[in-house]
Amino acid sequence: MASQRPGFPVRLTPTASAATRGRLPAVPAKPTVHSTPSMASDAVRARMVQRLAAQGIADARVLRAMGTVERHLFVDSALVNQAYEDTSLPIGLGQTISKPNVVARMIELLLGAPALAGKPGDRLGRVLEIGTGCGYQAAVLSHVAAEVYSIERLRGLHERARSNLRPFRLATVHLLLGDGMIGYAKGAPYAGIIAAAGGEAVPEAWIAQLAVGGRIVAPTQSAMGGQALVVIDKTARGVERRILEAVHFVPLKSGIA
Ligand code: SAH
Repeated sequence: MASQRPGFPVRLTPTASAATRGRLPAVPAKPTVHSTPSMASDAVRARMVQRLAAQGIADARVLRAMGTVERHLFVDSALVNQAYEDTSLPIGLGQTISKPNVVARMIELLLGAPALAGKPGDRLGRVLEIGTGCGYQAAVLSHVAAEVYSIERLRGLHERARSNLRPFRLATVHLLLGDGMIGYAKGAPYAGIIAAAGGEAVPEAWIAQLAVGGRIVAPTQSAMGGQALVVIDKTARGVERRILEAVHFVPLKSGIA
């Protein structure tokens, strides 16, 4: 339950040290700038955004979204102190939340969809996310897209994402329990499709459900044996694929569990 979660970072408020214990200060300590958990997380998140920019994330929409969503509210309470580090973290049921740099990179690519070319301030229309996990990326996407449909195949994580996202009251995020391999035809066509799990190839259903001018960003098995990010654009001229850098994602699996 959100109200029982520890603040951020877990031990931020100085507790009496051995030396001072028993000696109460004559006047109450003045609150410092970082005295509340949310202000402390704001500062750490701002540093994460600076790091993302230094790593080459340039899209202001992405940096703003990454600076807005409180990542520490999506991870297990024992991992709260690592929430803004550049690392992937376990989210239960053998799955992981991608490191901030990868989330930012993929969303930046998504915003490069042909329909948005030359429109640096615009939002995407409807986006489909495959692999809701803890719901973090869906929350980030809600800041750059008009509507987010996010599918998860594991009931436990679908429910966890639901409770993680509830306090944010994001009316434009729709969580679905289902097999994302077949996409979600009812929400199609999508301006963007982003996958957080990697399969052998990009399913044909995703390409079919992509709008003209839309883009798919997905990790896929590469010829070398590992995974690579694949970008697929649908334009009036046809479908164009590009293979980018190597990545490490959990496997895309079929069926619901
Ligand atoms: N975007 C997530 C990361 C989740 S990890 C976040 O921000 O937390 C990838 C997720 O994809 C896992 O939860 C896994 O269960 C899910 N997944 C794998 N194959 C899937 C499929 N066919 N349909 C829907 N979800 C799938």
